[in-house]
Amino acid sequence: MAISRYQVVDCVLPAIIVSYIFWACYFSLLEIGVFWLIRVQQKYLLGGCYVAFMTLLFIPLISSFLYLWLVPPVMPMPPGPPPPKDSLVEPHETNENGDLAICNRDHCNGNWKPPRTHHCSICKVCRPGFDHHCHWVGSCLSLADMNVFLCLLWITPITVGLGSLPIMPTLACQVKEAYIIAQSDEWILTNWWSWFGSWIFFGGPFGRYIGAVILGYRTIASQRPDIPKALSMIEEPHLGTFLTIAFGSLLALFTLALGLVCSWRTLKGLSTIEALRQSSDVHHPRAFTARRSPLRPAMAHESQKRITMVAEPSEDGPTIETAP
Ligand SMILES: [Zn+2]
Ligand SMILES: [Zn+2]
Repeated sequence: MAISRYQVVDCVLPAIIVSYIFWACYFSLLEIGVFWLIRVQQKYLLGGCYVAFMTLLFIPLISSFLYLWLVPPVMPMPPGPPPPKDSLVEPHETNENGDLAICNRDHCNGNWKPPRTHHCSICKVCRPGFDHHCHWVGSCLSLADMNVFLCLLWITPITVGLGSLPIMPTLACQVKEAYIIAQSDEWILTNWWSWFGSWIFFGGPFGRYIGAVILGYRTIASQRPDIPKALSMIEEPHLGTFLTIAFGSLLALFTLALGLVCSWRTLKGLSTIEALRQSSDVHHPRAFTARRSPLRPAMAHESQKRITMVAEPSEDGPTIETAP
């Protein structure tokens, strides 16, 4: 069976993230806590409290990521046709004929799609309570996983923010030093600042300054080859320290933004896919028909969805009304 590029992304991205998390755990507890705060600065109480507090933050962070990455997602819908309509007492998704929603995508072969069940185009199955397929954890996320997912989203910026706090003044001085050197070094002036590629290939003006600081760090390291091995990575300007904090900050901003959006949706009782569809329907009232594409006939039935309200059971049994 051919491996899709999404399956490759699902393997590579979580491996990068989990490697970074374990590295950040070592960097925080040992390099910052033990080597920098306790050994170099001799702040024993602060160092001890820092190590204890960061351990408490890393435990839920690591376990929530490993849970979402390694524990299999909710089981797909078992194959089977829709049940009889008169056995239903809740709103059920239907097509425009009032028939209960089924899925014909990939290998679903007309399986019934109960409420809040959606087809994952990456896993190619219908999952009950499907929220979205997350490439960062390489797995489908369902409503049952949302508490762990929200925990991961909120604890990441807190861990990065509090973890990097003790070294921020030192790091700021080192970055400033690297930047000043990058502005005066002949090689960097010629090969970086004057090179048009520094504007294009490294994320525009912002990436250009980051690149200059990295080259400044390299120049500092080459100018001080005889310095005896430092007690910690924070003592002297160290490119590893800068990259660790820079990557962590990007991750923190990303998870903070995602955490705010996901928490807001969860408070409104919507999954990600439901919120996106709701927004699409509000802004594009003809979205159902607009989605039809002759190039993707298998999705044609998806574009004809309607929500059928099944009324409370009456004396004559439940009735079904098709929404206009
Ligand atoms: Zn399906
Ligand atoms: Zn999936």
